[in-house]
Amino acid sequence: MTEKSDLNGSKPIGLRTDVLIVGGGVIGGALGLALAREGLSSIICDPTPVETATAPEFDGRAYAVALASRRMLRALGLWSQIEPDAQEIKDILVSDGRPGEKASGCFLHFDHREIGSEGFGHLVEDRHIRSAVLRAVEKEPLVTYLDGVRVEDWEQTSAWAHAQLSDGERVQARLLVGCDGRASKVAQKAGIDRTTIGYDQVGLVCAVRHEKPHHGVAHEYFLPAGPFAILPLTGNRSSLVWTERADMAETLREASDAVYLAEIRRRFGEFLGQVELDGKRWVYPLNLTVARSFVGPRVALAGDAARGIHPIAGQGMNYGLRDAAALAEVLGDAARLGEDIGSVAVLERYERWRRPDSTAIALATDGINRLFSNDVPVVRAARRFGLWAFGQVGPLRRTAMAFAAGARSDLPRIMLG
Ligand SMILES: Cc1cc2nc3c(=O)[nH]c(=O)nc-3n(C[C@H](O)[C@H](O)[C@H](O)COP(=O)(O)OP(=O)(O)OC[C@H]3O[C@@H](n4cnc5c(N)ncnc54)[C@H](O)[C@@H]3O)c2cc1C
Repeated sequence: MTEKSDLNGSKPIGLRTDVLIVGGGVIGGALGLALAREGLSSIICDPTPVETATAPEFDGRAYAVALASRRMLRALGLWSQIEPDAQEIKDILVSDGRPGEKASGCFLHFDHREIGSEGFGHLVEDRHIRSAVLRAVEKEPLVTYLDGVRVEDWEQTSAWAHAQLSDGERVQARLLVGCDGRASKVAQKAGIDRTTIGYDQVGLVCAVRHEKPHHGVAHEYFLPAGPFAILPLTGNRSSLVWTERADMAETLREASDAVYLAEIRRRFGEFLGQVELDGKRWVYPLNLTVARSFVGPRVALAGDAARGIHPIAGQGMNYGLRDAAALAEVLGDAARLGEDIGSVAVLERYERWRRPDSTAIALATDGINRLFSNDVPVVRAARRFGLWAFGQVGPLRRTAMAFAAGARSDLPRIMLG
């Protein structure tokens, strides 16, 4: 349990906890809940007030929640709240084309029935996941959520990490975990270098309503500027993730809704009937950034702080949840054995578990994005053939589907169902 500490005899020096989590986004919150299941206390700090973070207009993204992540959300008691707003993904269709042209005939078709009854996963809007996580965090006795509070600075001694918060409070923890996103200050302060590659692309995101039903089909349509994903939401709605060149995106950002919709129609086509915007338009800068190490002295990184990737495969949050699950499992096991949860020996287990997987997804998403975000005729012809050929080979197709569902041999226990 988090407690007020008074270590030097007379002067209270702040709050004491097992783990201080810097960043209360989806990953920081899920980590707090997963640690609580292991009997470990945590304090989560985030400068954004909970009321702001849980408001519908806070974040316009929708996430493809893989089967493994769904199992974790269920184990944390969150899935029953999320499920009414989750749209099952039944099929994924991949094609290649140009704006204003009909998509290539070279469809790659992933059918969820090929990998069993549980399917690939669901599409869920950020607002539903984030509120479910943060509301559960507020109710969890082993988690103290300090919203409106930033971790300003921290240092480590041989046994503790000491942090200074923006409200003047001090926190003492066995371990400090940076869940503070792609520009992680925790990584910087810990001297952990990052490999960062800027993409000259941004993600234009919006939800649309359409006349005809989507039947749970997700479309990944590769255009010269990047992928254009049409992802099914509940009702006759879809989330669009439109990767565009940064200069073009700037023009589109300024464009009226009518012009924006016309550009969507050029890419989207007519197959879902009349289309209209459902809420705000959003813009997300895209890059690839991977921390060279996920741990340091009394420090660990998780989520985008560890590895921020291109959304092309819809895996960033899924990988972040995997970090949270793996870290909680390593720390829980260590605590039961009486080990110091912030020690190098314990943290290295987490590093060995999560880093190889992260490097692989970073390279894969970067490679796919480069291969598909161009209009070079010979590359275009080769990838069309590649898509077609890939779709003809059952085992390859099923391996890709299992990957999308998050099936792996080294999943943390909480993701095994
Ligand atoms: C367009 C787009 C579409 C995507 N689609 C998918 C998808 O379909 N499926 C999927 O799995 N992933 C997807 N992702 C990736 C996913 O959005 C991210 O991986 C995920 O949101 C990362 O969460 P996080 O909690 O690690 O980081 P963040 O959401 O960046 O949270 C970091 C938190 O740290 C806080 N913070 C920062 N500094 C401090 C400090 N000093 N003290 C305290 N708090 C601090 C911030 O306020 C913030 O709340 C997508 C991403 C994009 C851009």
